[in-house]
Amino acid sequence: MGVGGIGIVRISGSRARDILERLFVPRHAPCPFRSHTLYYGTVIRNDGAPLDEVLAVYMRAPRTYTREDVVEIHSHGSQLVLRAVLERIIGCGARLAEPGEFTKRAFLAGRIDLTRAEAVIDLLQARTGAGLQLAANQLQGSLYDHLEKIRRRLVDMLAIVEVAIDFPEDDVEIVDSGKLAARLQEQVIEPLVELLRFADQGRVIREGVTVVIGGRPNVGKSSLLNALLREERALVAAVPGTTRDTIEETVTIHGIPVRLVDTAGIRDHDDPVEEMGIERARAKLRDADLVLFLVDGSEPLTPLDKELYRSLGQVERIVVINKIDIAAPERIDQLEHRFESEAVVRISARAYRGIEALRETIWTKIAGDETLQEDLACAPNLRHRQIIEATLAACRQVDRSLQSGVPADLLAVDLQVALDHLGDIVGLTTPDDVLDTIFSQFCLGK
Ligand code: GDP
Repeated sequence: MGVGGIGIVRISGSRARDILERLFVPRHAPCPFRSHTLYYGTVIRNDGAPLDEVLAVYMRAPRTYTREDVVEIHSHGSQLVLRAVLERIIGCGARLAEPGEFTKRAFLAGRIDLTRAEAVIDLLQARTGAGLQLAANQLQGSLYDHLEKIRRRLVDMLAIVEVAIDFPEDDVEIVDSGKLAARLQEQVIEPLVELLRFADQGRVIREGVTVVIGGRPNVGKSSLLNALLREERALVAAVPGTTRDTIEETVTIHGIPVRLVDTAGIRDHDDPVEEMGIERARAKLRDADLVLFLVDGSEPLTPLDKELYRSLGQVERIVVINKIDIAAPERIDQLEHRFESEAVVRISARAYRGIEALRETIWTKIAGDETLQEDLACAPNLRHRQIIEATLAACRQVDRSLQSGVPADLLAVDLQVALDHLGDIVGLTTPDDVLDTIFSQFCLGK
């Protein structure tokens, strides 16, 4: 439920048209309700009084979202009107859909596979242009097509093995295990491994990354957050230890959502030992995908600088030398030299210098060694990822069996296990509870 100029109530099922005829009075009678055609008229209450002026459309199965008969009533978008229309429809014998039920019915009717159904959720929840594109590609079947190709190859291999089971007494060796193993490697295992790589990239595109700004008080963390946000949303003061409410903001770099966490906001004034929130700041630093470690270019490094730096451990980082507008060039060079093995960027958060270069360095770090493709055609989600890993494990078992000359019937069993796993991704063999979990993520009415 929301408020808009127009709201749409959707009905699916064999009685959809009956219900429409009971509550809709067309402006021009007789009304033939041609499929996929909008009709103008009035929704009437039980007692015949007009409820709202609407457009109504009847869509005959199977050319519909659910593959059942579907009716849509386009009324005015006020919540009261929509509620009244909905109640009237329920009064005529319909029931309220469960979350995701329309899409679930489309899936159960075989109109879309499970990866496409999941793409609908992604489409509704996308937070960035890149995430949206990914969902749109998946809705077009990019992931399904990819997996289906691999599944068909496994079916072919299973067919070869089954021939060997059926004619075991033949002299010719029907299964050439060396050839089959090579085929399995090239046509199934390698493409699946590549898909897993896409999954990692997909996670970044869909969920973004967390970048934590660390460094001792007064080096300019808040100023940097502001510079990156290009707006003064955080309070910047010369007094160390100024608290603020906002410590987290999101910016977009090359279409990827980047959550910026400013550890300057993490302070607890009630606890003198914890006053600077160092422990909590450290925890944030450890959870980061990337740390921007800020030092003040106009001052020598302090023991706290060094201690905080050491506490970063293995986490991915960029050393940011701030305040280059007031720092002596020799001091900056010296500092840079000390962090020789790291990515170092020089900026002035206050004078807004070097910020674009910093954004680019952040992007390089996020994208990693492999170029992150913003226009990724498909990217498995966590559920797909786990199943692909299980499929790979089964394929490797097949491979081992081929190497050790296991009989054809056992080989067939291993292959069938791999096939069943792949079937779970697209929804051929997915257990009901998994389906329920997937569709419950939808909002009502989708
Ligand atoms: P934080 O405690 O690390 O968050 O530091 P702040 O962002 O609050 O900055 C501390 C002080 O340094 C403020 O007075 C800022 O105006 C100043 N400052 C921050 N960045 C720069 C800079 O690039 N150049 C100069 N000259 N001053 C800066």
